[in-house]
This record gives sequence, structure tokens and C-alpha cells, in this order.
Amino acid sequence: MGAVIFRNGLVLTMDDTHTVLPGADVLIVDDKIAEIGVGLTAPPGAQEIDATGGIVMPGMIDTHRHMWQTAMRGYGADWTLTQYFVWYYLESGKHFRPEDIHAGNVLAAWEALDAGVTTTVDWSHGLQTTQHADAAADALESVPGRFVLAYGNIQQGPWQWSAAPEFRDFVNRRIKGSDMLGFQMAFDVTGDPSFPEKAAFEVARDLGVPVTTHAGVWGATNDDGIRLMHEHGFMTPQTVYVHAATLNQDSYHRISATGGSVSVSTESEQSAGQGYPPTWTLRDHDIPVSLSMDTSVWWSGDLFSAMRTTLGADRSREHLQAHGRAETVTHVHLRAEQVVDWATRGGSRALGLDDKVGSLQQGKKADVVLLKNDASPVMFPILNPYGHVAFQAQRGDVHTVVVNGRVVKHEHKLVGADLAKARADVERTVEHLVSVMGRDAWEKGMNPDIPETKVMDNPYTYTEWDAGSAQWKHGSAQ
Ligand SMILES: [Zn+2]
Repeated sequence: MGAVIFRNGLVLTMDDTHTVLPGADVLIVDDKIAEIGVGLTAPPGAQEIDATGGIVMPGMIDTHRHMWQTAMRGYGADWTLTQYFVWYYLESGKHFRPEDIHAGNVLAAWEALDAGVTTTVDWSHGLQTTQHADAAADALESVPGRFVLAYGNIQQGPWQWSAAPEFRDFVNRRIKGSDMLGFQMAFDVTGDPSFPEKAAFEVARDLGVPVTTHAGVWGATNDDGIRLMHEHGFMTPQTVYVHAATLNQDSYHRISATGGSVSVSTESEQSAGQGYPPTWTLRDHDIPVSLSMDTSVWWSGDLFSAMRTTLGADRSREHLQAHGRAETVTHVHLRAEQVVDWATRGGSRALGLDDKVGSLQQGKKADVVLLKNDASPVMFPILNPYGHVAFQAQRGDVHTVVVNGRVVKHEHKLVGADLAKARADVERTVEHLVSVMGRDAWEKGMNPDIPETKVMDNPYTYTEWDAGSAQWKHGSAQ
């Protein structure tokens, strides 16, 4: 594979003490970080990348994304969870063919790499058959990123699909314990007292794979689900709870005590309505956090957005609650440094990959991002590097991305991506969906009704100042 060296960058190692090294080099040999320091000697033939004026950081990690839905990018911009559930669970989700899953995954995978997200959990709950699952895995293996296939199927109960021999066969055939394609089981726990999901948890335990579950989603999953999982011994340090936004203290205690983590999808929680993005309360329970973008049917697979909105939502709530007590927040709890940690180490810890990725340290796998854009007036001066990553930088500033030692984006351009083919494939998926839905239903699905806004009566609707009486005169339209 050879060697790559980043020269003279501001290196955010994200190691345990968050060491920051100005003017440092990062040397990659084959798939690993060989050395970090000032003025390193590179082996002959190493690819030199000038990081002067830029920030070198670990590849970011998105712990929850429905990649298959990327074929419908932006379609649900004005949705709530209500439209989302109707569209995917009840109506259109079943029309996705294996090639549609493939098209969405390929596009989503390149989208992630383009934004410096080197590891993504594909929360793939549209796998109606194992042909769909093969298509999902094929797509992930065709793109040089690091992925975790979180297997799910919203068209059946998890106790059904996980018991199917084809599912076992798929796991045996496709999942080899590679750190480029990991595996989880993805399903939700409804809180039904008979706990039918128990059988699926037993399969996960038998296979030795983690479970990831949408927990604390307003109107969908609640404290009963957490309690049932806990009472049956299925809450483990590997469990990833997505959103966890509408849970009570008791549930957060159970999550904290069993060592699991929460994947916070702030942009999603804010628009779709799972609940208030929970970082403000997770810190009170010392529950580990990772970040995610959920689905490109609303947003994009870009963790800069996740960091930014998470800071905003957390601080917004802290200020608002203080104002409710007639108090002023003078020092905010959540820092830019913390969200950069969540976007990197938070993910590697949640996925059990912390010995391999998540930080720039000698011996770790080389998943490295260079933020540098000499043409941008926003990329200087870099005074507060964590603040710069969280609030100033964006996808267009991602200059170079390395995954497992391989350069997959360089000088702002993806390397080896056939976007023309990705576009043609996605267009075929859209054509297919429009044809099975009908044009009217397609348009209606994209444009939910807008509730009526009642404009308040305004006591100040005067139209004319009367100088004689020095008073406003009431207008006829008051
Ligand atoms: Zn989700």
C-alpha cells in the first residue's frame, strides 16, 4: 500500500489527553499510523501531503445512518416522524428492491467519505430479503470506507427475520470479522409486555454481535422497552441506544449502569420529533455519547452538522431553562472540544473499535482527515482548533481523507468514485418509486399539509399619528 505523510499540520490527536501538536507530521505506512512528530523522515516514495495551514484529525465516526434511504435524498425535508413512518414502514419501504438498497448505500458511502466520515454504521432496516442484505453489503464493500452493517427489516418482527435460516446463512457468508465491515443487529423494542423481541436478543447473544436500537423515541419506543431489556439481561456495554430522547431517570440509570452508549442525532431529533436532543441530561448520568446523522432523506451524512447542532441544542436548552428560573448562564457546560471527541472517540468506543480507530496514535489504523482550504476565508486564523472544527469548518474544507492507509479523497476530490454510475443508479430507483407510487402520491408524500397558523390579535395596530393630540389614532383595520 505504501506510505503517506501529512506535513506541517495542526494535529488534533484526540488521544486520551487530547494532545494537540502544531507544525507536526503524521506518517502512515501501509494501513497504520507509523509515527507522529515534527520533521519526520519519510520512507522513499511516500506520498507527501502539505498540511500547512490545515488541521489533521482522526476520521469521524457516524454511529447511526439509514444509508439505503439516501436514494431519496432531501425528499422528506418537511416531514415529521409521522410522514417518515407512513412512507417507509407502511407504504413505500416495501417497494425498495435490492438494487435500490445498493444505489442508496453506494451514494451514502461516498457522501460520508467526502465529509471526512471514515466509519459509518449503516442502520439497514430495509432488508426484506437476504438478497437485499447482499446488495447492502456489496455496496459497502465497493466503497473504500469503514462500515458496520446493522442488519434490520422493518417489514417483519425481529423475532421473525432473526430466526430465518437465510439470516444465519447471510451472517456466515458475509461477515468475516473484518474491521472494514463490522456487524450489528438493528431492531426496536416496542414495550409489549410479552417481550417478543427476546428471541432476537437471544440470536444476537448467540452470534456474539451487538444490538443497536431506537430507544426513547416519542410515540414509538419508551421506558418499558428499556426495562424489559434490562430485566432480561440484554443491556450490555456494546448496546447502542439511538436518540434516547424521551426516557425517564430510571431508564438512563439502567443504560449508565450497564455501560451502553447513546447515539445522538441532534438534527434528526430537532426536526423529526423523537424528543429533545438528550446530551444535556446524558452528562448528568455519565452516559457515553456518539454522534450520528440518521438519514439523508432529511439531512446529509456530515458530522460537522452534528457537532454544530449538538452544541446549539445543548446550550439552547441550558439557557432557556436558566431563563425560566430568572437566572443567567455565564459558563456553558458543553464545549467544542467535547463534540469533536464525540465525533471521533465517542464513535470508536461505542462500536468497540477504539483500539483501531478514533484517534491519531502510533499503531492505530490510518483513518485520517485533513481540513484545509486555502481558497476559503473561513479557514484562517485557526486560533481555537476544536472550535474551528465544530463551528467554522464544513464539508468543502475536507481536503484529504485516508481510510485504512488508502487516500480516498485528495485536494477536495474523491478518488476512484464513479459518481456518474451512482447518479444513474439512483435515478433508476427514483423512477421505480415514482412509477409504483404514482406521480400524485409521490408529490403529496414530499409536501405534507401545513397546519394553519393563527396570527394573534395585536393591540398596537394603529395607522396614524395625530400630532394635535400626540396620540396614535386607530386605523380602520385594527
Ligand atoms: Zn434512525
